[in-house]
Amino acid sequence: MSEDQEKTKVEEDRPNNPVPLQQLQEVLEDQLELGEHGTVLAVDTMISQAVHHGVSDFHLEPWRDCVMVRYRLDGTLHEVALLSKRYQERLVARIKVLSNMVIYQKELPQDGRVEAHKDRLGRSFRASTFPTIHGEKAVIRILDHKQDRMQTASLGFRDEVVKSIHEIVARPQGALLLTGPSSAGKSTTIYALLRELMRTHADSRHIVTIEDPVEYQMGRIGQTQINPQMGFTFEIALRSMLRQDPDVIMVGEIRDTETARMAIQAGLTGHFLISTIHSGTAAGVFARLLDMGIEPFLAASAITGVLAQRLVRKICEYCIEEHQPERELIEMYGIPVQSSRFYHGEGCSECRGLGYSDRQAIGELLRVNEEIGNLVLTRAQTRTIHDAAVRNGMVTLIEDGVDKVLDGVTSLEELHLVVPPPDDGFMGEAPPPESVAPKKRSKKNSSKKKSKTRNAGAKKNGAPQSTDDETE
Ligand SMILES: [Zn+2]
Repeated sequence: MSEDQEKTKVEEDRPNNPVPLQQLQEVLEDQLELGEHGTVLAVDTMISQAVHHGVSDFHLEPWRDCVMVRYRLDGTLHEVALLSKRYQERLVARIKVLSNMVIYQKELPQDGRVEAHKDRLGRSFRASTFPTIHGEKAVIRILDHKQDRMQTASLGFRDEVVKSIHEIVARPQGALLLTGPSSAGKSTTIYALLRELMRTHADSRHIVTIEDPVEYQMGRIGQTQINPQMGFTFEIALRSMLRQDPDVIMVGEIRDTETARMAIQAGLTGHFLISTIHSGTAAGVFARLLDMGIEPFLAASAITGVLAQRLVRKICEYCIEEHQPERELIEMYGIPVQSSRFYHGEGCSECRGLGYSDRQAIGELLRVNEEIGNLVLTRAQTRTIHDAAVRNGMVTLIEDGVDKVLDGVTSLEELHLVVPPPDDGFMGEAPPPESVAPKKRSKKNSSKKKSKTRNAGAKKNGAPQSTDDETE
């Protein structure tokens, strides 16, 4: 084959058609042998194949004697290619060019944005590099275009939770705080909420955000990115923003006392605040705020709701089958062993043998009523607040997770990875197992069927054949 013919062949391989992940190494090697032109193709291929396969991040990792390409799929990293070390610098340089980084700066971390182009399926990405002893590592975060269509109803929360969230944000003042570890889907929920607010209230309410970074650009919402190096912090941005007559303010994260105080106060003075804060459970958010020095009366009166959330991988609908988890694990969650059915994915070509495909949220929503407000005022223990919320109808994270296990949406093993029972110490401030154990389950497990289970579960949980099922 002449060089021109080869180029044509590679052009044909241009990533507009999906390549099975097992063949990606071969495709990349063929492209890289074409020299400079091949490097351009290889990086486009890595990016666009990542998009085709629904990857959230792709890593280019330098090791002593090779470069490893890994894709993060539904939260887990998978090695997709091992390339010769000699391509390393060229590949990283190409990523730097695409994202407007300084090519010769190799000793310091950099970050940038890869702009949309047809060769990368018309999508934009965030890129970053980091120096290691074996050279620069590059990571590209794929900005999820499904976000554009995402609605709170399609994220996987229970119908009543979605309804309550909408009631909370429809009020002219107050605060909704989201909590959970990173990669728990909080920003997806927030963007979905903002998108809905934009549709229903953009004419009458001034909606603004203060973010770090701005990941998704939305139509008629004033989005601001903070820049701490220039002294433009959450605190300063929020202080100035409050002079701009906002109605709804989204603050990316409450990290420090001053931001917390200002944000919470905003929720008391004619604004609606949406933000995130770190805590294990919904009830734990109050202790966190009080620890930060926020006065109990502020927290009690401004906060109208707290949503704690996590993401669980969904069982692949093509290879779902009944499966019996270890008895000990079942008992840990207080699920009746005899009368319950469990599912997992056996692994098939559709899910690349993983048994899982896609993810969805599980969550607990704590609504602040008079009783909870009074408990916060008296600095009650997190457990006391949690128990009061449960008495008032809150379905806990674990209960919601167990429901989704019994509905065949996810596996018990996956739930255990994401929300271990409190005994494991992870939930820290969560109540003891007996009070979070699921209540009555017997009626819903009896007649579950294979493979259709997921849809049944999805409907019950308010996912009307969600947008996330139809793409990629
Ligand atoms: Zn499968």
